[in-house]
Amino acid sequence: MTSLPLGAHVDQEDPIAEARARSADLAQFFLGDPQGWKGPVVAYEGGAAALTAAASEAGIGLYVHAPYVINVATTNNRIRIPSRKLLQQTVTAAAEIGALGVIVHGGHVLKDADLDTGFDNWRKAIDQLDMACPVLIENTAGGDNAMARHLDRIERLWAAIGDAEGGDTVGFCLDTCHFHAGGEELSSVVDRVKAITGRIDLVHANDSQDGFDSGRDRHANLGQGQISGDDLAAVVRSAGAPAIVETPGGSDGQGADVAWLRQRLA
Ligand SMILES: [Zn+2]
Repeated sequence: MTSLPLGAHVDQEDPIAEARARSADLAQFFLGDPQGWKGPVVAYEGGAAALTAAASEAGIGLYVHAPYVINVATTNNRIRIPSRKLLQQTVTAAAEIGALGVIVHGGHVLKDADLDTGFDNWRKAIDQLDMACPVLIENTAGGDNAMARHLDRIERLWAAIGDAEGGDTVGFCLDTCHFHAGGEELSSVVDRVKAITGRIDLVHANDSQDGFDSGRDRHANLGQGQISGDDLAAVVRSAGAPAIVETPGGSDGQGADVAWLRQRLA
């Protein structure tokens, strides 16, 4: 049987070597500073073309995680407008390295702001976006004003972006730590997500240091946090999508997590 591609979130300097060190099929990384507005850079020696060629030769698929500062939903103009610009720059740069997708968090609106405005801001952002590379929206763990913490919000988000040009091509990235800490039961979450989005394009397979519905986003190595190992493996299996670990411990810790998943999925 064909196995699902597995990978890890790695350092951007040499994602190919990092993936190999973890026996991974996929490498996810940032293009530049995840906490900054400066715009994407390809840190790999030789730049975008060299990275594309090396990835193709090694048979490693690339994913780009967009900077954390991006929040296209917010009602704060001074964040929303640069967020749209940085998301576009990131998608364009990701396309240049032949990435399989750009993962971006669902974001949130300001306290007391109207949630509908946030969903409509997502619609406008997608409308304007040139999706040279697929965009995958990821669920997040915390906050009362999040666009993609709970399923009822994800349903409203999907309805909103469905009205955008190209909205039907937007994908979903399911993070197991975020759903657990966010307060959604993992045992049923794949079916509930697919009922809304019709798709799961990528799984972020992370254990959680914190309890169910804690709202805290602290990843743990697989089988070592508060998520049942059976539930975690079942999410990846039933999602039927590639999976990436964003766990601590460098190549040793993540290599063990990739091996853990491979064994559970075999
Ligand atoms: Zn994640």
